[in-house]
This record gives sequence, C-alpha cells and structure tokens, in this order.
Amino acid sequence: MLDSLMRTYARLPVSFERGEGPYLWDTEGNRYLDALGGIAVCALGHAHPAVTEAIRNQAGRLLHCSNLYRVPVQESLGERLSELTGNDAVFFCNSGAEANEAAIKLARLHASQRGIGDPAIMVMEGAFHGRTMATLTATGSRKARAGFEPLLPGFVRVPFGDLNAARRAASNTPGLIAVMVEPIQGEGGIVTPPAGYLKGLRELCDERDLLLICDEIQSGMGRTGQWLAASHEGVSADVTTLAKALGNGVPIGACLARGAAADVLQPGTHGSTFGGNPLASSAALAVLETIESEGLLNRASSLGQRIEQGLRDRLGEQPAVEAIRGSGLMIGIELREPCGVLVERALERGLLINVTAERVIRLLPPYILTDEQADEIADTVSALVLEFCGTGSK
Ligand SMILES: *Cc1c(COP(=O)(O)O)cnc(C)c1O
Repeated sequence: MLDSLMRTYARLPVSFERGEGPYLWDTEGNRYLDALGGIAVCALGHAHPAVTEAIRNQAGRLLHCSNLYRVPVQESLGERLSELTGNDAVFFCNSGAEANEAAIKLARLHASQRGIGDPAIMVMEGAFHGRTMATLTATGSRKARAGFEPLLPGFVRVPFGDLNAARRAASNTPGLIAVMVEPIQGEGGIVTPPAGYLKGLRELCDERDLLLICDEIQSGMGRTGQWLAASHEGVSADVTTLAKALGNGVPIGACLARGAAADVLQPGTHGSTFGGNPLASSAALAVLETIESEGLLNRASSLGQRIEQGLRDRLGEQPAVEAIRGSGLMIGIELREPCGVLVERALERGLLINVTAERVIRLLPPYILTDEQADEIADTVSALVLEFCGTGSK
C-alpha cells in the first residue's frame, strides 16, 4: 500500500521490476530508456555484470563486519579512489548527505583545532547538499528549508557563480573556515558557473587559508568526462564528497580529503556503522574498475557532446528554450516556463527524464549508451519540447 509510506515523494504511477543496460521494464512489461539513471546513480546502467558479480561474490562471503576491524576491500577502495581523484584519505558512509555531514564536521573540527571559536562555512544560493539538518542548512532552496527552523548557525550564503560576492563575503566573515560548492549545480538546474569561477574560489581559499569543499555527489564519478568535475578547471579541492554513482545503486558515500584535511578526523570524532562495509565497498570497487577498463570517462564525454549537439540542432533556435547546458552526461535544457508535465509525457513515450528547478529538463543517463540510444534520447526530448512549445507535430 502506498499509504503505508510517508509521503516524502510524489510518485509516478509506474513501477519497474527489471533493468538491463540503459533499459527498465515496468510491471506490465513495457520497456523504457532510462535517461535519469535513478538520479545520476546507475552510471553503468542496470544489472551491469561486473557489479552484479562483485555483489554476488561478496554476499556469499561476508556482508558486513564492524569498522572496529580492518576491512581489506574498504582499504583497496579507499586507495583506488584516492589515486584516481588525487586525494590522500577517505571516510566512507552511506549517502550523499552523510558525506557532506562528514565534510562539514571535518571543517569545523579543523577550525576548532586551530582555535577558531565561531566558524562559518560559505555556501551558495541554489545549492543542494542533502536533507539532514546541517546539509539542509547548507542547501539553498528556501522551500526545502521551510518549517525546519531553527537551522544550524555557521553558514553564510552567496550567489553561485559570482566570485566578487564570494570575495566580499570572505572579507566580511571573520570566522570563515571553508567554502562549500557544487562545481555544477544539479538539483538547482544543471547550473554551470562562469569559466574560472572554481579556480577563483581555489585562489580565495589559498589566500585566506580556507578549506575548499567540492560536493561532487552528482557531478563526480566520471559523469562530466573526468573523475571529478573540478578537474576541468585544474582545481583540486581540499575535501570532496561523492555518493550517487559510486556504488551504481548500492548505497555508499565518500568524503575524500587531501593534505592536512586528510588527518583531521581521528578515532572518536566521527564514524558510521555501515560505512564502507564489505558489500558496498566491493560494489564500488567494481564500478571504478569498470569505468576504467571500459574507457567510460571518454565515453561519457563524447556521448554528452553527441546528445547536446542533437538537442542544439533541433532546439537551439527555439525562443521557448532559454538554454541548453551542462558537461558530459549532466545535461540541462532550461525552458522559459514550468515544464514538470514533460516527465509524464516522456514516460508515455518510454523515456525516463526529470525536471528540476521547475523549468529545467534534466538528463543524467548512464555512460554505457550506444550512439543510437544517445540519439534516441536527444530525438525524443527534442520532440517533447517542440510539442510543449506548440511548434512540433503531435
Ligand atoms: C543527491 C545529492 C546530495 C544528497 O545525496 P543523498 O544520497 O540523497 O543524501 C547531495 N549533494 C548533491 C550535489 C546531490 O546531487
């Protein structure tokens, strides 16, 4: 019974019982092309054999043991993830919000260790960092925060993409200890900042001895064609958070750190019962290995260009289309009016998409698409938009 669930989600009246590659099948046997991937989670598509195999093997040996013991597969995952992303150490947890909680706690502890008593973290308008109290406070949407006051103290908010505003706020905030930012805002509407923005934040953090925290929960894990979206600007954050695609559907989050930030958390300061357990770690290790062995970073990049080009060719001149933007397989099509209805219309045509920030069609497909499947996404989305704007044939 749907009534048995708290109504945290307005659910569409469809349920899926099976997936393979970029396809899902519903309980009536209808097939859908999945251009959402469980919101940036299923980067390798559904039922990827390497991930299934890793889960199966691990489930038959050991699902869980406490972090009171050494967990070799967690250590291997930590090492691999650190190497691939240029970090020194990792804390594993079970979700994006938890990864950001770890980052926020790390930043506060770092401040307290240096005698800063009233620390503040700079966050952005339009940001999404999760639903726990601290990450909700960091989140930009007023609607998401409403009713949950009192929120946490210690956050200052500035407009996203505005380096001068960030510099001004840094000068005006004595206890500032960190800047927390999504390299590309996901829930906020696939908002890409101006070129040089992230680099500018990095310089600001260096000048003022602040930690740069990049929330790459949606943009990371190869989605933009690099392991981390920040790498496109040659920027290394001090703290980076990952989750979503890390386990391809097995819940796992990670808070990665570099340099001095990697040594802040010590026994007793933070923890997680399930974090990095053998099952989740095995799945994530298989995800990393598959992205590497199948050359999926380059593939995400070229597929993204292909879809974006297909959209531009058909929608570029449409006055109802405000912008087509993104990076790799993180693509947004911003319309001039609210277009949430397109989600259901796409569903009727066998395509799964999302609309975020009311007016932005969001595509987060898996990296394992064929060219034909990528074209199908661009074709169907374009047709839906043209109809919606009243210029396409029905
Ligand atoms: C999804 C998301 C989160 C929250 O992750 P959960 O696993 O839902 O807690 C945080 N930050 C960003 C950028 C996200 O996209």
